[in-house]
Amino acid sequence: MAKISINLATGSFQQEEIIVGIDLGTTNSLVAFINPDKNPQVINDTGKGLLVPSVVHFNAQGDALVGNDAKEFLITDPANTIFSVKRLLGRSYKDVAAHQDTFSYKIIDDESDSLVKIKAGDKFYTPIELSAEILKELKARAEHALKTPVNRAVITVPAYFNDSQRQATRDAGKLAGLDVLRIVNEPTAASLAYGLGLDPAQQKTIAVYDLGGGTFDVSVLSIQNGIFEVLSTNGNTFLGGDDFDRAIVYYWIESNKLDKEAVTKDSGLMQSLRLKAEEAKKALSTQSLYNEKLRFDGFEEVKPGEIWCTLDKQTFENLIAGKVAETIASCKLALSDAKLTTAEIDEVVLVGGSTRSPYVKQQVAAFFQREPHDQINPDEVVALGAAIQADILAGNRSDILLLDVTPLSLGIETMGGLMDVIIPRNAKVPTKAGRQYTTSLDGQVNMKISVYQGERDLVRENRKLAEFDLKGIPPMPAGLPKVDINFILNADGILTVQAIELRSGVKQEIDITPSYGLTDDTVEKMLIDSITHAKSDVDQRMLIEARSEGEQLVYTAQRFLDKHASYLSTDEIKNTKIHIENLQQALEKAEKDEILKKADELNEFTRPFAERVMDVAVSAAMKGKSIDN
Ligand code: ADP
Ligand code: MG
Repeated sequence: MAKISINLATGSFQQEEIIVGIDLGTTNSLVAFINPDKNPQVINDTGKGLLVPSVVHFNAQGDALVGNDAKEFLITDPANTIFSVKRLLGRSYKDVAAHQDTFSYKIIDDESDSLVKIKAGDKFYTPIELSAEILKELKARAEHALKTPVNRAVITVPAYFNDSQRQATRDAGKLAGLDVLRIVNEPTAASLAYGLGLDPAQQKTIAVYDLGGGTFDVSVLSIQNGIFEVLSTNGNTFLGGDDFDRAIVYYWIESNKLDKEAVTKDSGLMQSLRLKAEEAKKALSTQSLYNEKLRFDGFEEVKPGEIWCTLDKQTFENLIAGKVAETIASCKLALSDAKLTTAEIDEVVLVGGSTRSPYVKQQVAAFFQREPHDQINPDEVVALGAAIQADILAGNRSDILLLDVTPLSLGIETMGGLMDVIIPRNAKVPTKAGRQYTTSLDGQVNMKISVYQGERDLVRENRKLAEFDLKGIPPMPAGLPKVDINFILNADGILTVQAIELRSGVKQEIDITPSYGLTDDTVEKMLIDSITHAKSDVDQRMLIEARSEGEQLVYTAQRFLDKHASYLSTDEIKNTKIHIENLQQALEKAEKDEILKKADELNEFTRPFAERVMDVAVSAAMKGKSIDN
């Protein structure tokens, strides 16, 4: 494919289009590129800083603001200020329900396995759209700083991200107008930044310790012939530098003999204390004492005055020792899962802003009995590595062999004509991937499996490769059959699609050659179309998803009324019916936000009844993605 692009700012032709590397983090995100000296460099858009806080604020008009400016609204407008969206990416409400308290904004509880949505103002947003806002900001900063359009990127994700989280990250990129060349594991990117894995002759085992703002993970990787393999991962998605800040705040409340209950109720004061605590923590990474005062206006019985924010290094280390010990325990587990001893680890890499604390470094070094790599800024190392990966994919490194990759995504059709990607584009060949599906109708005995190729959200815009029926599924209620669909793409480019109903063992498979009749021009056109139509594709996908969720909810609620009316009062029955009607009307209007709003209201209204009846079967019937027949 030709790599000529026009620089919109100068009108000049540019031979090599810049491909950026993006670290889309829970706390901070950043974008890097390979500079003219062939070195990876984080993009600093004049004055705005390297790190972009992963925070999105929506004003009353629904306009998004991202980064440091958005962060200020965490205090003044918490309900419309979304942080930590990465925790929600590719997740269902069930996945995150236990941690609902940590979010100050509203996450929609639809009691289903479908992906979460967030409410801000009158609108409903998916984590994909919110992540896209962050990516758009990074793209804009890169374009501004480099004075050239930026259309292609490599984006990193944690090694433990599953398929659905990876796909959501790709979709966010597409929605931001980026052609996502590859999703790369964060520990892999960090290793690349240190040059590990660049020499094909190198064979190494690496431990990557990543302690960020709110998450911790450790990964054990092996590299062989330039190929990274994740041997094990471990961690805690609710442990990070924020915990250190919190520990300091509570220490100050005690050392100043403040009324803990009163202070914690004052969210403004708590936020100011937290900011001071973070400042103290960072200062103690290079000095041994922090000593400042915080003026406050007073509250309830507490007179206005000053809080002494004093902290010495030793006290700080005592405060965080327990949390750091937890991370070391995770390292032990990761090693034992990989069936390795510390002596068998060749290199240790530090990632994440919190590894700047000397105590953290010392504990990691002591555990692995090895000096970890810490020469590169730990909060930049992932983005820098992503830029190197982008450079490799651009073919700029002749010393590195580019393995055969899939030119377009491969997937199947799911409800409403949506494309469900099973093998993403640019996956290394040979590869194997699969996912589980279920039926949408009671007693459904056949399932049609249609295989497509392409990047669009609706299958009708993609290339149809094949279609077959999985026959002989024993009649069961909708949602009960478990159909595994596996895609196996061999080194010769032949795709075997396998469908197996696990309860009965019925099985069907076919072989396809996806490259048959596919020209380079078609591939290029399909890629360009997917970017130019990204917004309308995502809108359509979301409408289809909202619709099928809404329809299922109407079905479930009606079934609930039929079966369990005796548990409800006449008024409750009447009002449930009104809510159902409202939802049906919204479904007719086919407006996404309206459907979601009415569905949310019906859900909220009927939740206590469901709890009353505790009928698991009803909710079980709506579980699982289904394929229309
Ligand atoms: P994430 O990967 O979760 O998006 P980062 O890697 O950017 O996050 O890490 C953010 C965390 O690093 C925050 O808790 C921040 O306070 C902490 N941090 C940043 N600089 C320092 C420092 N100099 N010393 C200690 N902690 C730091
Ligand atoms: Mg990170």
